[in-house]
Amino acid sequence: MHQGREVDTVIVGAGFSGLYMLHRLRQLGVSAVVFEAGKSVGGTWFWNRYPGARVDIESQEYCYSFSPELDREWKWTERYAAQPELLKYLNHVADRFDLRKDIHLETRVTAAHYDEDARRWRVTTDKGETIVCRFCVMATGCLSVPKADAELPGSEAFKGDSWHTGRWPEGGVDFTGKTVAVIGTGSSAIQAIPIIAAQADHVTVFQRTPNFSVPAHNGPIDPAVVADWEKNRDAYRKEARDTGFGIRYVSMGEQAAHEATPAEQKAAYEERWKYGGFALLGAYNDLILDRDANSTAAKFVHEKIHEIVKDPAVAAKLSPKTYPIGAKRICVDTGYYATFNRDNVSLVDLTEEPIERVTANGVKTGAKEYPVDAIVYAIGFDAMTGALDKIDITGRAGAKLKDAWSAGPKTYLGLMVAGFPNLFLVTGPGSPSVLCNMAVAIEQHVDWISDCIAWMGERQARAIEATEAAQDEWVAHVNEVADTTIYPYANSWYLGANVPGKPRVFMPYIGGFPVYRDKCNEVAARGYEGCTVAA
Ligand code: FAD
Ligand code: NAP
Repeated sequence: MHQGREVDTVIVGAGFSGLYMLHRLRQLGVSAVVFEAGKSVGGTWFWNRYPGARVDIESQEYCYSFSPELDREWKWTERYAAQPELLKYLNHVADRFDLRKDIHLETRVTAAHYDEDARRWRVTTDKGETIVCRFCVMATGCLSVPKADAELPGSEAFKGDSWHTGRWPEGGVDFTGKTVAVIGTGSSAIQAIPIIAAQADHVTVFQRTPNFSVPAHNGPIDPAVVADWEKNRDAYRKEARDTGFGIRYVSMGEQAAHEATPAEQKAAYEERWKYGGFALLGAYNDLILDRDANSTAAKFVHEKIHEIVKDPAVAAKLSPKTYPIGAKRICVDTGYYATFNRDNVSLVDLTEEPIERVTANGVKTGAKEYPVDAIVYAIGFDAMTGALDKIDITGRAGAKLKDAWSAGPKTYLGLMVAGFPNLFLVTGPGSPSVLCNMAVAIEQHVDWISDCIAWMGERQARAIEATEAAQDEWVAHVNEVADTTIYPYANSWYLGANVPGKPRVFMPYIGGFPVYRDKCNEVAARGYEGCTVAA
């Protein structure tokens, strides 16, 4: 690429978001290039290839809906697709829509500076290239920056092998004959532990906070489900988009928990536990709003853990008691709790014996040293803001995004930032993003951004920017809604609480996908209300 080459739009990232963004802009005749740090397209599904990695939403719902042809052609093999199949799907999308020619792999964007006079962004990559563009779309992912192992003192001294789940080696890892430490018990660990345990000599799980997990009941996709979707696809897609979480099978019950007797509650939870996945949280319409209602569902899962795990002391340690169910993302597992019945798996409760350091030979807690051959860091991500924070983004009047967000991210609708004209975020903080089926959230954002760019083109407008007032109002609304729910009661990554020193601000929008989508549509219909548009 030539120094200073000019295109209409630079897109950063080639996951679900970046691929669809490129496709939509092509359809509009808007020139675009994509920069992707990874060796392949796929984003999350390229990087997270740890054993057991799979989607936690049923496959037919966690995929693009924009092309009925693509939808019809692609055949999922499992109820919850595994990482290799998801990566294959995204590669197929890149080929099917001939996207690769505009994607530059293994190229990291290091800076994006706005030139106010020219009304252009200058985007710099780690290859030393600069490209000039009118619009810059950050499709950089909510969960694309793994937390550094260095958060655990001494990690550099460890003599064995170690891996972060979010940067798993391409050839996989053979754990045969090895003693393994897994640090963390979030979704990544919960998917990986049963598979590592089946292979390794011994697995020691280091748990700081237990997580609620529900069974996936995964298996080959049911041909009846496929046939039903083929018949009703459009209606089902619409139904999914009209649910709060963008997932058709998680539509909320009509009843509040307190309107049901304990026996009815148990029956409702049992039915949803049998169905599997997030369905449990939809049993009653107040489970994410009311702590008492929520505790009925939490108690049900505690009982399930005690039924599955033979050692009552281990079951008690695995039962989350310090926060409401759902306030951290529920995990969807295959045999997680039962894995603790194996002789070769042990659980270390870090609330009783915190990790002091990683040593040359293993992990040392307040109680003792655990020697291991290998360490799996399943410690999560610098979520929502991490990827943007790594880019030197400078807007109008030399304003740095890092400074603008020093007390927590502020956006208008999670799509734009005051002071940063013509910069768009896909699933930015302040949008439903990670509290929604991400495939649904991403398509809605990409469509909105594309429509906005087309609208600008029709008017030959040069710059669009959110006003501070509209942004402040939206941020206040995001917080206000979060405060009516159970979400702030957990030290979750939604709040930035998993990263030492990160401001504690609830980042995603929990008002529900349909409410949010309608608001975005209304803003657009009113000529991008809340934005200034420069001719
Ligand atoms: P990503 O897939 O994260 O892609 C962003 C890309 O941008 C990355 O490839 C990254 O390398 C690139 N990038 C970032 N910064 C730069 C830069 N400066 N320069 C160049 N490239 C850059 N969501 C669900 O709804 N359901 C699920 O079941 C689900 N499972 C998940 C499982 C795991 C293990 C993880 C980590 C996340 C999961 N998610 C899930 C969330 C998931 O991230 C989204 O569903 C979706 O894949 C996000 O797509 P994206 O394109 O927005 O971001
Ligand atoms: P995570 O949910 O943030 O879990 C990280 C785990 O590591 C937590 O148990 C955390 O404990 C622990 N941890 C972090 N830092 C630690 C430290 N310094 N010392 C000890 N323990 C530490 O990360 P994740 O499991 O990678 O999942 C992140 C998100 O990605 C999920 O919530 C989900 O949205 C998505 N995901 C989805 C799937 C899926 O099922 N499809 C799979 C993987 C990921 P604390 O809880 O105490 O912080």
